[in-house]
Amino acid sequence: MSTNYSYKNGGGVKTKSVSSSSSSYSSGYKSKPAVTSNLRRNSTGSSANSAAGAHKDAPGVSGRVRVAVRLRPKNSEELSTDADFADCVELQPELKRLKLRKNNWDSDTFEFDEVLTEFASQKRVYEVVAKPVVESVLEGYNGTVMAYGQTGTGKTYTLGKLGDEDTSARGIMVRAMEDIFAEATETDSISVSYIQLYMETIQDLLEPANDNLSIVEDPKSGDITLPGTSLIEVKDQQSFVELLRLGEAHRFATNTKLNTESSRSHAILMVHVKKSVGVSGDNVGSKSHMNRTMKPPVVRKGKLIVVDLAGSERIDKSGSEGHTLEEAKSINLSLSALGKCINALAENSSHVPVRDSKLTRLLRDSFGGTARTSLVITIGPSPRHRGETSSTIMFGQRAMKVENMLKIKEEFDYKSLARKLDVQVESLIAQHERQQKAYQDEIEKISLEAKKQISQAEKSFADSLEKERLKYQRDCMESIKKLEAQLAVNELKEESLNKPNEELNEVKKLLQNEIRLRKTAEEEVKNLQNQVAQWKRSEVAGNAEILKLRKMLEDEVHQREKLEEEISVLQNQLLQLSFDANETRKLLESGDRSVDMTGDMGSLISPVRQPQMRYSGEQEKGSVATLFEQVGLQKILSLLEAEDPDVRIHAVKVIANLAAEANNQEKIVEAGGLASLLDLLSSSDDENIHRVAAGAIANLAMNEANQELIMSQGGISLLAMTAQNADDPQTLRMVAGAIANLCGNDKLQLVLRAEGGIKALLSMVRCKHPDVLAQVARGIANFAKCESRASTQGIKSGKSLLIEDGALAWIVKNASNEASPIRRHIELALCHLAQHEVNAKDMISGGALWELVRISRDCSREDIRILARRTLSSSPSFQVELKRLRLNSG
Ligand code: ADP
Ligand code: MG
Repeated sequence: MSTNYSYKNGGGVKTKSVSSSSSSYSSGYKSKPAVTSNLRRNSTGSSANSAAGAHKDAPGVSGRVRVAVRLRPKNSEELSTDADFADCVELQPELKRLKLRKNNWDSDTFEFDEVLTEFASQKRVYEVVAKPVVESVLEGYNGTVMAYGQTGTGKTYTLGKLGDEDTSARGIMVRAMEDIFAEATETDSISVSYIQLYMETIQDLLEPANDNLSIVEDPKSGDITLPGTSLIEVKDQQSFVELLRLGEAHRFATNTKLNTESSRSHAILMVHVKKSVGVSGDNVGSKSHMNRTMKPPVVRKGKLIVVDLAGSERIDKSGSEGHTLEEAKSINLSLSALGKCINALAENSSHVPVRDSKLTRLLRDSFGGTARTSLVITIGPSPRHRGETSSTIMFGQRAMKVENMLKIKEEFDYKSLARKLDVQVESLIAQHERQQKAYQDEIEKISLEAKKQISQAEKSFADSLEKERLKYQRDCMESIKKLEAQLAVNELKEESLNKPNEELNEVKKLLQNEIRLRKTAEEEVKNLQNQVAQWKRSEVAGNAEILKLRKMLEDEVHQREKLEEEISVLQNQLLQLSFDANETRKLLESGDRSVDMTGDMGSLISPVRQPQMRYSGEQEKGSVATLFEQVGLQKILSLLEAEDPDVRIHAVKVIANLAAEANNQEKIVEAGGLASLLDLLSSSDDENIHRVAAGAIANLAMNEANQELIMSQGGISLLAMTAQNADDPQTLRMVAGAIANLCGNDKLQLVLRAEGGIKALLSMVRCKHPDVLAQVARGIANFAKCESRASTQGIKSGKSLLIEDGALAWIVKNASNEASPIRRHIELALCHLAQHEVNAKDMISGGALWELVRISRDCSREDIRILARRTLSSSPSFQVELKRLRLNSG
């Protein structure tokens, strides 16, 4: 074995040099001369690297054997025993170089296609070593993957590891098959043979009974077959792995001295891949010439051979127990033959001793043949095996120079292809025609459809347009209607807005009018205020005048009262004098007539103030009293019935005088004097008697007890009758005085009225004499006082009897009588009447209210003024009326 390596010593890099190839290959290559020459030309002179890149270009291209070196990690033994020694190799994977240590200072450097360190994964090893081969097998080439190396360096690990426990440890066989299955279609056929070559005998690992199999070469095609070897078609990875396991179990392994696991046999896995490349089989044929043009019915046959070589250790070293030298020779015969062939091929030797061993015969296609071949050389790190490692490396180096002639293994059936092609062409024409027709039909259909759709679209568009138009028309109409309605509403609003304006104007006018009116009214008010001020001024002046006049009047009244008193005194004196003179004359005339009696008469009459009795003289009371004592009351009373009218009148006068004294009144009544006096009123027709008797009755009527007697004896009727018939004011005065006294008795009110007392009183006002009127007024006041008392006590509730009997008109008329006695009584009477609310209405209508108001303001007597004011303010009716008349009682 000669080498073409040039060595650069002294630490320099020893680079392999590619030997110039010889002009011819060894025999046994089956290839068409033209192609062969073409390929050879291509391969000639090309460098290893450039050749490696060209192998895919075309079928039949040249392909150098690709060689990778893999360093096994240190095993436990090496770790312990070699710890102190440096490894014999140093890898530079990035440079794809391996340094083999010659000694401590020198090493040889080798380049490989791939340098795989002890850390290289099984996957990476597969990809760089086997995958290109597998791919070319799938493309129809033969491919070989071999592992070469000393026993125990990891050949089996690299190729045959099943990776049951750790899938990442799967070896090349398993991974190759995975790729093949991945590319296989259902029609493809994959069948497997697994054999062992041991001591130049071939054993069927899948069927151990098939022993000593022979190798048959087809003399025509040069194809190698192993008749009798089981070729098992596998359908899936699982069954393949089972086969491998089976084969492994059968594999005869002989322990060697170096490694108990190492085998001295060669294990050869053969995978036959038949891929039918169909019409649509682009998965295979994209790079095929045929595929690029037509697709002929092709079956591609690829064969993958995976060879797990026996250990490369030297015979002498591997001589171990239980094995003969012959055996050792035999084991290595094939290897050495392989080496020789590789050397020959590397050197382009004209003779390649393929037939020297069964292994080389089997691998004839793989080395320097038509296959793509990949070799992985396995080495260990141990310096103890440096020699083996070195020889392994050299083996690899030589193998790198081996150029293979790649040949696609395709079988073409041209006749059938032509037939098929005819059929295909015809059918394609027909198909084309059909397609054309279909295409035209389709186009027509499409255009028809399109037209239809267009017309439909047009129609629907028109429809929708029309709809839209109608809708808009409708909307428009509605909007117009709405707007019209709105307009109407707005007009209405406008009107209503204008209306208020008119109203406003009117109101403004009215307001202005009002303002004008108010101004004139204000002016008027001012004028009136001025007038009022003027009036007030004049009123003040007037009031002063009134006060002055009133003062004068009061003075006058006072004066008059004084004068009246004087007159009365004078009259009494006159009466006394005339009485005395008369008595004196009588005494003178009759001699026996009682002197005493006459003397007392004057004094008797005096208190009654009978001013008209001219004969009432100035006699002392004592004389009458004396007469009363001397003659006796009974005697005097009897004189009342004397035939002589003069006696009668005197007797009456005496009684009357006596009755003026309160002491005598009781005696007179007890003695029946009252009855006699009343009798005189009816029996006598002498007015003088009437006058004196009435006077006496009046005196007696001052006593309450007597009042009842007078009443019970019909006194009122008699007095009323007397009043009716009397002409003399003094008579009337007496009668009125008597009745007035009776009027002051609370118990007698009803009887008095019933017997015409009030009417009688009122009838007497016909005589305008102030004395008479004063008595009438006194009677009325007494009666009114009793009535008001009765109503206050709740005894009386009806209207005043005075008003019933028509007294109000006279009362009102004389309320401002200039005679103060009259006025006073009437004022009191009015106040009493006013205290009973039932009288209010009559009083108001009768004008009494005005008099009361006047009294409350002008009455000279303060008590009466206050009484009148209180009376007015306590009567609701008066208050209402006063308010109505805008008068204040104050
Ligand atoms: P060979 O087949 O070359 O005799 P093996 O494949 O039987 O060697 O390997 C020998 C031992 O080294 C085995 O125990 C194997 O598991 C181990 N071994 C080999 N290569 C490797 C590696 N790359 N990584 C880990 N262990 C390895
Ligand atoms: Mg092994």
